[in-house]
Amino acid sequence: MRRLGRYVVEREIGRGVMGVVWLARDPRVGRPVALKTIRPPEALDPERRREFLERFLREARAAGSLSHPGIVTVYDVDRDPETGTPFIAMEYVRGSSLKEILDGGPLALDRVAEIGTALADALGEAHAAGTVHRDVKPANVLIAETDGRPKLVDFGVARLPASDLTRERTAIGSPAYMAPEAVRGGGVDGRSDLFSLAVVLFEAVTGRRPFEGEDLGALAYAVAHTAPP
Ligand code: ATP
Repeated sequence: MRRLGRYVVEREIGRGVMGVVWLARDPRVGRPVALKTIRPPEALDPERRREFLERFLREARAAGSLSHPGIVTVYDVDRDPETGTPFIAMEYVRGSSLKEILDGGPLALDRVAEIGTALADALGEAHAAGTVHRDVKPANVLIAETDGRPKLVDFGVARLPASDLTRERTAIGSPAYMAPEAVRGGGVDGRSDLFSLAVVLFEAVTGRRPFEGEDLGALAYAVAHTAPP
């Protein structure tokens, strides 16, 4: 039986570029939780890895103060006392991500409006509290199996600064949903999240993304310099 802190790990749910998400149980409360562990990109030197981890913990704590039905609740941010592995314990959402759903094709306009309204409301609450998501994309929208409501996950969790985009390209993923100012490496605020939300809704309605490019460079160029259809 594997533990992280006091949580009993049951199985892996999935993995992203910078971490693994586990289904676990909190024995104190007897409830299921999703545990996200983080692994900074190997290419970073030790000093930057440490900074990255500290930012991960700090930002996850800031997100922990958000309470909204459209935002996955963060219960706990800690490090495993034995291995030092930092992790976030959060609400486990049984269901699928919007990415998995959109892989099956676009959605009806009414359904997109419902999802968009709920996500805009959640972002509004976060922005009013001074928290920017920074990575709104279909993979970070979980659709609960029970009532079909969308919930944003990975709120304010540390990202590599955009200046590292080129070097860490493989690590950071695709700029497909990023706002132009984020692609250019400038400062982001709540408006950048709204841009990303609009890209997500565009894709949900049409089945294709507003910006395309043959490689990451071309895609970043399209986001920064072209008008979407
Ligand atoms: P990236 O690393 O590019 O952001 P990602 O968002 O798919 O990719 P993770 O955030 O690590 O990667 O998530 C991995 C998997 O875990 C995804 O399939 C996601 O749907 C699932 N997941 C994340 N958080 C939860 C949660 N709170 N409840 C249930 N499943 C979750």
